Amino acid sequence: MSVTTRFAPSPTGLLHVGNLRTALHNWLFARAAGGRFLLRLDDTDRARSTVEFADAIRADLGWMGLDWDGETRQSDRGALYEARFEELRAAGRIYPAYEDGRELDLKRKVLLGRGLPPVYDRAALRLTDAERADLEARGVRPHWRFKLDHDEPMAWDDLVRGPQSFDPRTQSDPVVRRADGSWLYMLPSVIDDIDMGVSHVVRGEDHVTNTAIQLQMFSALGGTAPRFAHEALLTGAEGKLSKRLGSLGVAHFREAGIEPEAIASLLARIGTSDPVVPTLDRAALAAGLDFARFGRAPARFDEAELAAVNARIVHQLAYEAVARRLPPGMDQAAWEAIRPNLATVAEAADWWQVVQGPVPSAVDEADRAFLAEAAATAAAINWSADPWHALTNALKGATDRKGKALFLPLRLALTGRAHGPDMAALLPLIGRERAVERLAKAGGSH
Ligand code: GLU
Repeated sequence: MSVTTRFAPSPTGLLHVGNLRTALHNWLFARAAGGRFLLRLDDTDRARSTVEFADAIRADLGWMGLDWDGETRQSDRGALYEARFEELRAAGRIYPAYEDGRELDLKRKVLLGRGLPPVYDRAALRLTDAERADLEARGVRPHWRFKLDHDEPMAWDDLVRGPQSFDPRTQSDPVVRRADGSWLYMLPSVIDDIDMGVSHVVRGEDHVTNTAIQLQMFSALGGTAPRFAHEALLTGAEGKLSKRLGSLGVAHFREAGIEPEAIASLLARIGTSDPVVPTLDRAALAAGLDFARFGRAPARFDEAELAAVNARIVHQLAYEAVARRLPPGMDQAAWEAIRPNLATVAEAADWWQVVQGPVPSAVDEADRAFLAEAAATAAAINWSADPWHALTNALKGATDRKGKALFLPLRLALTGRAHGPDMAALLPLIGRERAVERLAKAGGSH
């Protein structure tokens, strides 16, 4: 069976981390199967959909490395929806309804007050031709409902949740089209999934009830329903549904120095029984994606965990992959020496500044003699292996200094700062010449 998945965001806002996860899983699943991954912009809400949001969605997917094999916009497909709508209407599966919002509210309240589920009572189906004509003559324009077949089971074997079934009698006939002719989400999505040959729909479990209803639409339209995977939603680290997650998107992650591969590594595995492995290998992520291993409990998204995964991604990044983002002159050897100490690529600039200098002079008068001695020692030690330990061990033996009194003046003289990168990693990059010069200057003896 050839696999086609789709990611179907509404361009009414920016993608958040939950959307990125859905997009990633659809992409990984398609790539693992050698199938196709499509982008569908669900822009039937003309008032809230914008070109800018659509552009931002494409840019975010691009940044994440989620390339798509085709793109459609629902706003281009009105003629197809219209044709299929007419077929369903001719077949008696779509009917006009005339209640306004207030009437529907009242019906719901009455049912709820009697302890009954607020299912639409199909009053519109009982209207006579004369009553309908009368409503229309008074200028009441109908909206349109899809008529559920109460005898057709709504059941499927969900790739995450296992066997699912709903009783159609417990569901209202869904409104598929508004009185002004605009479309609601449910029907166009099914028409598109059929037309685009979608084989697998991967989405959040907030769509489970929609799926039950959409299954009847697939069969009413003579289509084959795709397989469905409904994933438990993301929660924040604190375990509660968090508002914050809705505001975490690519802009935030970029700002925080998070690499797309860190997001992918984490989002591919949280909520599953598999460990998160920080990897640059998308094919491995794809091969390891198994819906059967997703749990029913919400997946916890923890920014601290993301930061830790990110550091382990940064440690794997090749020089070519980051060269454009490094300070000018920073070469492969410097990147490889500094890389193990970084949490983000941007931090490399700090290190490089300290290596290159100039560094501000920051010396305590009381340390001058010690630093002059350090300069002489630095000129004499072997620089080929671990000069920091060679230098500090020699000075420990030759002076009575130890601990902070030993290390801090050296750090200040060599880097101009009291805190910073690991000196053992830094000193080989500063190199003999610059180190001796900085120490000698601090020692006041050049
Ligand atoms: N536009 C819908 C959403 O973002 C798509 C849902 C679907 O995957 O069918 O919720």
